[in-house]
Amino acid sequence: MNNKKNISILIIYTGGTIGMIHDAITGSLVPIDFRHISDHVPELKKFGYNLQSVSFDPVKDSSNIDPGIWIKMADIVEENYNNFDGFVVLHGTDTMAYTASALSFMLENLRKPVILTGSQLPIGLLRTDGREHLITAIEIAAAVENGFASVPEVCIYFDNKLTRGNRTTKMSAEHFDAFFSPNYPPLAEVGLHLKYFRNLINYPSEENNLVVHKSFDNNVAILKLFPGINRKLVQAVINTQGLRGLIIETFGSGNAPTYQWFLDDLKHFIDMGGIILNVTQCHGGSVEMGLYETSRQMLAAGVLSGKDITTEASVTKLMHLLGRYSSREEVVKSLNSSLAGEIS
Ligand code: ASP
Repeated sequence: MNNKKNISILIIYTGGTIGMIHDAITGSLVPIDFRHISDHVPELKKFGYNLQSVSFDPVKDSSNIDPGIWIKMADIVEENYNNFDGFVVLHGTDTMAYTASALSFMLENLRKPVILTGSQLPIGLLRTDGREHLITAIEIAAAVENGFASVPEVCIYFDNKLTRGNRTTKMSAEHFDAFFSPNYPPLAEVGLHLKYFRNLINYPSEENNLVVHKSFDNNVAILKLFPGINRKLVQAVINTQGLRGLIIETFGSGNAPTYQWFLDDLKHFIDMGGIILNVTQCHGGSVEMGLYETSRQMLAAGVLSGKDITTEASVTKLMHLLGRYSSREEVVKSLNSSLAGEIS
């Protein structure tokens, strides 16, 4: 494993800005042919690793990525798991945090790095951030210590930070520093050296085999609260045909209006077998149900605390659990516990 030539990394190009160049004739952005990636990033040849790539055809803007595509990505990882030491997934930045979260729940007992990255500027532009992202993501995916992967997790690498995928959120549509992990420190920082924070990284304790969960149920909704929200809207969401799980994005540490109709509607949904998860709309911190009267009553109605989970991780976790278990109790139990380091 320590011989560079023995290290194999699979690059999975799904789409997004990182893989774009300006077409010589039309001037518009078009995806590059990933078989010729080293023409655009000649530095890749210096690695000495066995680098291989697969490209989605057609490539996807990340706004078009959905559970079917997550399954396709997990299939590629599963099929190539024994032949590669690590995986780099090139992905549009817009929904990268959702995909990273979904993959973290799908790939149980992961022992190899799956590093997602993308860029704000296309790789074909002079000032691109994509070149460094690709090179460093490969280096992280290839990093081993004592024969084991340094970061056997699904992560996002962006702008010198490696963060746990299911803890990360996109915070800027413009800055190079586009992602952050509000409630969990970075797993590695990149400066002169690549510094891994081993006490923060999850290392699987047993030699369990990779298990890939491939079912999702998208009968879920996210309801963002705002002052003045009216009952018709709440009822329209709750009465959505087939809805099984609802995330409510609440204020502060998990607070919501104490209007009787609001509590009655939530309780009715739960009594009918629905699951409601309370997630804060703040950009950091945790839900603490019962701290204020405005959340105590929801707790009494059976609303679950999302603790310090991100919205991206909460919705993908809910879809994953509803697809995985038919029993409500199993879903509730797993929502209350950490599956892949997504809650503290
Ligand atoms: N729209 C692009 C995407 O998410 C933006 C990006 O790659 O940064 O696919």
